Amino acid sequence: MNDGYQHQCEWMPVGGASIAPAEHFLGDSAWQWCLVITREATEADLEEFQYIEEVGDHIWQTVIGISHCPFCGVTLESDNTKGEPLEAHFHHIDSSNSWYSRRL
Ligand SMILES: [Zn+2]
Repeated sequence: MNDGYQHQCEWMPVGGASIAPAEHFLGDSAWQWCLVITREATEADLEEFQYIEEVGDHIWQTVIGISHCPFCGVTLESDNTKGEPLEAHFHHIDSSNSWYSRRL
């Protein structure tokens, strides 16, 4: 992934949430950007989730296509210049209770 394409702003919370090019997470999508929310395992989580092996492993991750930064409100660069409504595109990956991540 090219981190240079990520949107960074002073309102971005530290850890857990980021904005990334949608193609990396949503594949062939009308959306060009997505909000990625990742719940990473802490030391305490290793006790609770038997399939999580290391601190920092993803317990779950949710991704949704976005047009604006939800933290600073800036319009993210897009080909959809008319601002036409797009169908929501999102998914949730649950890695908490199986060796294999489940995409929901
Ligand atoms: Zn922002």
